[in-house]
Amino acid sequence: MEARLDTLLSDMREHLAAIGPDEVDAVAKAFDFAQRAHVGQLRRSGCPYFVHPFEVARILVDLRMDSPAICGGLLHDVVEDCGVTVEELEKEFGPIVAHVVDGVTKLGRIEYLRLDEHQSENYRKMVLAMARDVRVVIVKLADRLHNMQTIDYMSDAQRRRTAQETLEIYAPLAHRLGIARVRTELDDLAFKCLFPEAYKDIAQRVHDKRRERESYTQEMVDRIQAILRDGNVAARVFGRPKHLYSIYRKITVRGVPFDHIYDLIGFRVLVDTPADCWLALGIIHGHWVHMPDRFKDYLTVPKTNMYQSLHTTIMDGGRPAEVQIRTHDMHRIAELGVAAHWGYKDGDRPSSRSIDRFAWLRGLVEQIQEVRNPQEFIQSMRGELFEEEIFVFTPKGQMKIFRKGATPIDFAFAIHSDVGLHTSAAKVHGSIVPLKQELSSGDQVEILTSPDAHPSRDWLKYVKTSRARTKINHWLRAQEFEQSVQLGRRLIEAELRSHRRNPRALLKPAVLSDLATRLNHKTVEEFLADVGNGQISPQRVYHTLVPPEERQEEAVEPAKRHRQMVDARLDGISEAETRIAKCCQPIPGDDVVGYVTRGRGVTIHALDCPRIAGEFQRIQPIEWSSTGKGTYRTAIVLESNDRVALLRDVAEVIAASGANIFNAKVTTPDEFTAVHEFSLDVTSRDQLDKIVAALARVRGVRKVSRRHQG
Ligand code: MN
Repeated sequence: MEARLDTLLSDMREHLAAIGPDEVDAVAKAFDFAQRAHVGQLRRSGCPYFVHPFEVARILVDLRMDSPAICGGLLHDVVEDCGVTVEELEKEFGPIVAHVVDGVTKLGRIEYLRLDEHQSENYRKMVLAMARDVRVVIVKLADRLHNMQTIDYMSDAQRRRTAQETLEIYAPLAHRLGIARVRTELDDLAFKCLFPEAYKDIAQRVHDKRRERESYTQEMVDRIQAILRDGNVAARVFGRPKHLYSIYRKITVRGVPFDHIYDLIGFRVLVDTPADCWLALGIIHGHWVHMPDRFKDYLTVPKTNMYQSLHTTIMDGGRPAEVQIRTHDMHRIAELGVAAHWGYKDGDRPSSRSIDRFAWLRGLVEQIQEVRNPQEFIQSMRGELFEEEIFVFTPKGQMKIFRKGATPIDFAFAIHSDVGLHTSAAKVHGSIVPLKQELSSGDQVEILTSPDAHPSRDWLKYVKTSRARTKINHWLRAQEFEQSVQLGRRLIEAELRSHRRNPRALLKPAVLSDLATRLNHKTVEEFLADVGNGQISPQRVYHTLVPPEERQEEAVEPAKRHRQMVDARLDGISEAETRIAKCCQPIPGDDVVGYVTRGRGVTIHALDCPRIAGEFQRIQPIEWSSTGKGTYRTAIVLESNDRVALLRDVAEVIAASGANIFNAKVTTPDEFTAVHEFSLDVTSRDQLDKIVAALARVRGVRKVSRRHQG
C-alpha cells in the first residue's frame, strides 16, 4: 500500500503543484484516513475494500482532477460503509471534501428504477442538480467506472441492474459532461454485460480484421502525415478503432451490416491552432475525394458538451475513412470535457470560444468565461440552471418535478386531487415532517390521508404549484358557500321566530324558490348564501315574505328597534359559527349584537361598539345563552396615584374574585399618576362588575373603567 500511495502521489504531484503544495498532503491524509476506516472490510472479489476507493482516486488522477475530488474519491464510501459522519469529514478535511462525499453518498442511495425516455433525461438532470458541485458527479462517475471494471464479482441480478443504469444514466451523463474517455469505457463495459453474445460477436469480428486493419491504419497515418508535412502543417496523426458499443449501435439502430461499416477506424489529426485545422482540411480535401454530406464543422459551432472538431469522410480507393481534425487543446476537451478545466494554469486555458456553446449550462457562460481559477470554475458550474427545480420521489420511486420551495402539499395534489384534499400528514424518508416544509431534491415523500382531513386557508401560503392553489381555493370557496347557505337559512328562521312566525310552516321549498326569484337569484342556494354572507338582510327577506298588512308589529324608532333586536334570541347558531370581537371584547351580561361576516359566520360585538355603528343591514339580534360556560377575555383601565405596592393590592383584589390576569401594562403619564391596563379572563358581567367595585375601593385608585378600543 505504501508503494501505491507513492505512485498515486507522484502521478498527481506535477499536476497539483500548480494549485498548491498543501494539496498533496491533503491527499496523503485522506489516503490514510480511508485505509484505516475500511480496515478489515473485503470486496466481493476477496481483496481489501480499500482497493476500490484507491482505484477510484486513480481514475480521478487520470482525469487530472484536483485534490478535493481525489480526496472525495478516496473517502467516498466511508460515510455509507464505515459510519463516519459528514461532520467528522468536514472537521478533518474541510467543507468541500465533506460536501463531495455527502453528495456521492446521497446519489448512491437513490434507487434508479427503469424510467421512460423522458424520465431518464430528468433523472440525469436531477443527478446534476443534486450535485451542485460538478466534482460530485465526476467522483460518482469514477466510482461507477471502477464498479463496472470489477462487475464480474457481482450477482447476476445486481450486474444487470448496474449495467442498465450505467448505459442509461452514467454513460450519457459522462457524454453530457464531455468526458469521452469515461463515456466510451462505461458504454463498452455495460454493453459487454447486457448483451454478451453481441459483444463477443463484434469483438471477434473487429479482432479478425485486426491485422488487415492495423497495416491499413499505419499506411493511412503515414500518408496523411506526409502530405501535411509537405504543406508545412505540423501535425500528429493517429488512427484508432471505434468503440464496440458505437459499432453495435450502428448495426442495430441504423441497420448497417457489419461488413459495410468501413469507418471502423477514426483518424485524428491534431494541430497547433484553429487556423491549422482549416489548412489541414484543405490539404486533405485536395488529396482525396470527400463526401460533402458527411462534412461537419464543430469548430465554429461546438457541440453542447464543448466538443470542437472538423469532421470529414474521405474516399480512399473506394473505401471511406473518417478524419477528425482539431487542436491539441480541443482534443483535451474532447477527452476530458468538464474535467479538462481543472488542470489549467492561467494563460493555458482553452479559448473562450470553446465554451460559449456550452448550451445546457446557458446563463453561466459569462461566469465561465471570466474563470480565474478552478475554484471559481466550480462555483460557476453550480447548477443555477437547476436550482429552480427539485426532483422528488414517490414511495414507489416515481419522480415528480417541482419548482424550488414546493412542499408536501404540492406533492399531494400532484399525486391526485383527492389525496391533496385529504392530506393529514407527510413523511420524508420515513419521518413525519410539517406540511409546510420545503422539499429538496432526492426526497422520498409519502402522503398520509384521512377522510376527515381537509385543506385549510393556511395551505395557500405554502404551495408553489398552481394546481394545488386552484384546488385548495376551489374547495375553500365551496366550503364557504355551504356554510353561508346554512347560516342564511338559520338567520331567516331566527328572524321569523322573532316575529312569532313558525319558520317550518312558512319556509316550504316552493316559497323559498319564489323568494329567491323575487330577490333576483337563480337558485335557492345562492339566495340563502347571500343572506348568510350579509348581502341580503333577514329583515328584507321577512318584508318580502310577509306583506305589510299581515305584519302585526308596531313602528319602532331606530334606537329602540336596535335594542329590541338584542332582546330577540338568535337561536340555532352554533358556537363554532360565532366569535367574540377583539375590538370591544364583550362578556356575558353585556348587551351585544351579531355582525354577519362574509363566509366567516357571526362576530359578537358590544351593542355600542363604534366599529359596527351604522351597519344595520349586517347586524343580527343575538343574546348570550343563560348558562355561560368558560371564560371571556376583556380589559379594564385603572388610574391611580403612583404609590408603592399598589400593583400588589390590585392584583390581590382580582385574584380574590377568581378572575385570571392575562396581561398587565403600566404607564406613568406624569410623576403622580399610574395608568394600569389589565387584560382579564372573566366568566360574566356580574363578576366583572364586582371586580370593578372592589378595585374602586383600593387606596389610591382614582378611576376604574372598561376599556373599549375603537
Ligand atoms: Mn464506491
